[in-house]
Amino acid sequence: MNIKEYFVSIFKGFYSLIKGMEVTGKELVTPKVTEQYPENRAELKISDRFRATLEFIYDENGYHKCIACGSCERNCPNQTISITKRMVDLPDGKKKMKLDKYTYDLGSCTFCGLCVQVCPTNAIRFSNDFEQAVFTREKLVKQLNYLPEKDDAPAPKPAAPAPKPAAPAPKPAAPAAPAEPKPADGENKQEPKETKE
Ligand code: SF4
Ligand code: SF4
Repeated sequence: MNIKEYFVSIFKGFYSLIKGMEVTGKELVTPKVTEQYPENRAELKISDRFRATLEFIYDENGYHKCIACGSCERNCPNQTISITKRMVDLPDGKKKMKLDKYTYDLGSCTFCGLCVQVCPTNAIRFSNDFEQAVFTREKLVKQLNYLPEKDDAPAPKPAAPAPKPAAPAPKPAAPAAPAEPKPADGENKQEPKETKE
């Protein structure tokens, strides 16, 4: 290395140092985008569509709308849902299927959403509560009907009624009756009354 190459290498070193400091200085004054989790837990915004875990929809009286039809269980591609049901006698003598236990394994769920789509009564949905970390796999298996069953629960309404077919086109008007023949002059003809002046 001659004296010229020596000074060129020193210049290149300083140049790269200044370029690096330029990038560092620019980032120093740029607004931060890094999320400081869990310190920002209170203001953290998770999308409503985010599928974190399956849950039952309970109304304000503590009723859910599951009719234990088993449609979600049958359509789940990896047996994540398991349902046990029982037959109960109603006061009017009829029998009714009731949900006993609805088990959901978060550890095997692929969040495909098929179970929610096929439910005829909109009884289940996905929560966006993303904090589902636990220490053992067993704790990922949840019973979703955690509130006690109420035997007098009202029958859930169907999700959406099918649209009624369009009203049939109105029938054409009946043909007019043939006009009666006019009486001949002098026959059954009422003479106009004479007005008295
Ligand atoms: S989201 Fe898919 S994998 Fe998960 S429980 Fe529903 S149907 Fe099964
Ligand atoms: S959650 Fe819906 S699809 Fe699943 S058993 Fe209950 S009513 Fe049927």
